[in-house]
Amino acid sequence: MKDHIPDLKGMLLSELEELIAELGQPRYRADQMAGWLFSKGVQDVSEMKNLPNELKAALDSKATTARSKVVRAERSAIDDTEKLLLEYPDGARIEAVILTDDERHTGCISTQVGCRFGCRFCATGAMGFKRNLTPGEIVEQILQLQRRLSPVRLNNLVFMGMGEPLDNYIALMRAIRIANAPWGLAIGARRMTVSTVGIVPGIRQLAGEGLQINLAISLNAPTQKLRAHLMPIAKRYPLGELLDALKYFTKTVGRLITIEYVLLKGVNDSLEMATMLGRIAEDLLAKVNLIGYNEVEGVAYAPPDDESFARFAARLKQQCPTVVQRVSRGGDIAAGCGQLCVLPDVK
Ligand code: SF4
Repeated sequence: MKDHIPDLKGMLLSELEELIAELGQPRYRADQMAGWLFSKGVQDVSEMKNLPNELKAALDSKATTARSKVVRAERSAIDDTEKLLLEYPDGARIEAVILTDDERHTGCISTQVGCRFGCRFCATGAMGFKRNLTPGEIVEQILQLQRRLSPVRLNNLVFMGMGEPLDNYIALMRAIRIANAPWGLAIGARRMTVSTVGIVPGIRQLAGEGLQINLAISLNAPTQKLRAHLMPIAKRYPLGELLDALKYFTKTVGRLITIEYVLLKGVNDSLEMATMLGRIAEDLLAKVNLIGYNEVEGVAYAPPDDESFARFAARLKQQCPTVVQRVSRGGDIAAGCGQLCVLPDVK
């Protein structure tokens, strides 16, 4: 924080306190700032009405605040899903989604602009990698969704929008700490899910954070060979190593993992694969979310027909009692799995 201009939206309360002390102001000013930034969700310092003007001027010269604008908002005609296209001041654009299910209002959050992992079925992967989002930019994204929903509170977060969260680990954890803190957005860790493509060191590190957070693994294939074909990262972190890390996570954090499995017609939807997936789920004590593929322009995969989907699910249920068949959300606005994100089973 010392050799660059700090971003207030990416700062912990203790860091706001340090900054306030440096400026010779009383400690409670930091609480007031956290309230304006994270509870009221203001865009910048000029809106912090109860701060003295000299402090606002000092903050303006010493710090910045991440900003974004809503370029486009699309609401699904078939469910309550709303997708926002956000732009940061450097022109970088990301998508974020609000998924509503009765009392559950979930924000699907992006952590990178684009993605470097190139999974074959994914629209984001096809974009390539542009850059990481900063902690403040991730928090600002959550605040944009909160502004949209207000006065209703966003009460769940899933980090499964654009990009691979564990590939932007430090920024992700800082945003999670701010979202989780009582002085921040006060969203319980049990109501947050990080979804990964299978970055083994990141899974182990997340397990050690002391947070009761949920983990979802985008598995999509029950064998190393098929997984490495669909998701190149599996060459670097093979299935065996990945499963060991997932077991370690469950044991350490005490939360059950969710396996995300996108069904691709004729690729990973055979009954034999259902049996293999069932064994993996049984071994990990994991829940499985089965998702029919959402077609993506320019990608040569298709969803299975309803009958094959049902047969696959029935076979899987013989070994794994917790199988959720996901109707992909917001399919008409390209906010569904592999197009942007999926809704996991977050309680
Ligand atoms: S599925 Fe996730 S990790 Fe794979 S390319 Fe898409 S965004 Fe990246």
